[in-house]
Amino acid sequence: MSRLVSSGAGPRKRVFVVGGGIVGLSCALYAQRNGHDVIVADPRGFAKGASYGNAGVIANSECIPVATPGVLRQVPRMLLAADSPLTIRWAYAARIAPWLLRFVRASSRARVAHATGHLAALLARAMPGHRELAADAGCDQLIKEVGWLKVFQTDAAYRQAQSGFDSMRAHGVDCEYLDRRALAQREPGLAAIFAHGILHKDCAQIEDPGRYVEALGALFLRRGGQFVQSEVEALERSDGRIDCARTGTERYQADCFVVAAGAWSKKLAADAGAKVPLDTERGYHVVMETGEPQALRQPVYWAEKSVVMSPSSQRLRVTSSVEFAGLQAAPDYRKLKAIVPAIRAAVAAEPGKVVGEWLGFRPSMPDSLPVISRAPRAANCVLAFGHGHIGLTTGPATGAIVAALIDGAPPPMDISAFSVERFG
Ligand SMILES: Cc1cc2nc3c(=O)[nH]c(=O)nc-3n(C[C@H](O)[C@H](O)[C@H](O)COP(=O)(O)OP(=O)(O)OC[C@H]3O[C@@H](n4cnc5c(N)ncnc54)[C@H](O)[C@@H]3O)c2cc1C
Repeated sequence: MSRLVSSGAGPRKRVFVVGGGIVGLSCALYAQRNGHDVIVADPRGFAKGASYGNAGVIANSECIPVATPGVLRQVPRMLLAADSPLTIRWAYAARIAPWLLRFVRASSRARVAHATGHLAALLARAMPGHRELAADAGCDQLIKEVGWLKVFQTDAAYRQAQSGFDSMRAHGVDCEYLDRRALAQREPGLAAIFAHGILHKDCAQIEDPGRYVEALGALFLRRGGQFVQSEVEALERSDGRIDCARTGTERYQADCFVVAAGAWSKKLAADAGAKVPLDTERGYHVVMETGEPQALRQPVYWAEKSVVMSPSSQRLRVTSSVEFAGLQAAPDYRKLKAIVPAIRAAVAAEPGKVVGEWLGFRPSMPDSLPVISRAPRAANCVLAFGHGHIGLTTGPATGAIVAALIDGAPPPMDISAFSVERFG
């Protein structure tokens, strides 16, 4: 059966967005704001992908790409050490090798400086975008402007991170140094085992990112958006345009298509004629009971363990770093659970039982730059994925850019670095 979503006359367009995470919904909401009729498709509903279980930090400080100079020396050790924050499933090693090669190439000084500048510009738009969408959705109370704290037990770990903070400062990020005493004052919820801290005052926390993104989904529906609970199996292309999005039973036509399917975007981008080195950096969380109304005042990154501890009422969500194993492999919580005793010792409230666990899929490009771009071989298709570690933060800013691209208007910032054409 074929359902026709007819083209609107004049500037009002039918826009079909694939993906109901923070990025897809932000694109949908800004397109609606520009007067378009928008459909969002997702087989799992709103906020069921990476946007659900992340650490909830609006981390507008994080302008440094993941691959930095010297990474080539560090990666083998990180991949092999038992307590390393980086894991590779050996069955996936051959598949991830080309991505890792690009990752290493992206770590040159020149490329890191280029990426840092463009990420900083995107991140500068993060808070205003969240405030705008959250105010419209009536969920601004879910954004807590509490800052984001990074803590270090050892001088060595702090020294290793210092050049990154220098670079952040050069891009206008507020990085306040806290010594042991200042740290204890700022975060009494931590045990006195940390020697150094860096506070990013301008960052914020979304305590329950799943609820937040669902609230954006509810706003989308209130504004007349249509939700299709189906997987888009293909985007059908002819004569340099996407004709329709095909699900199991339907074909949806529209004036413009947006690929915002997070870590699952690679095949749809290929349908639109763009070959992208998108893979996933899988990440886990566990939720621990704390008994305290609020065990920590703000989210805390513990450098030596590479975990983020995000507080909420009676709970602590602990998120881990990176596993390379693709989209299909079963979860393996062992590494994160091995850190649980250390979390109990580091948090004064001594979090107790683990009451929840989750695996999510960061949509990651090897150069840490998202793809926010027209599809070069499909004139009516916009690509918006690959936001890696900072997609919750940069979703709304991405939505505003995509809405401009849908209208053929100049984007609100220089997006040349996010072009899909950088991959040739
Ligand atoms: C452990 C962890 C911690 C993190 N912490 C933070 C943080 O503190 N701050 C931050 O900014 N970011 C963080 N991130 C990153 C952030 O969560 C992601 O970058 C962001 O959620 C990506 O959003 P998205 O909308 O692109 O993808 P997703 O939220 O994954 O949404 C993509 C959607 O597309 C749908 N989809 C896939 N294929 C199809 C198809 N064929 N048809 C229709 N729909 C489809 C999926 O079902 C999914 O719902 C973290 C990630 C992880 C894993």
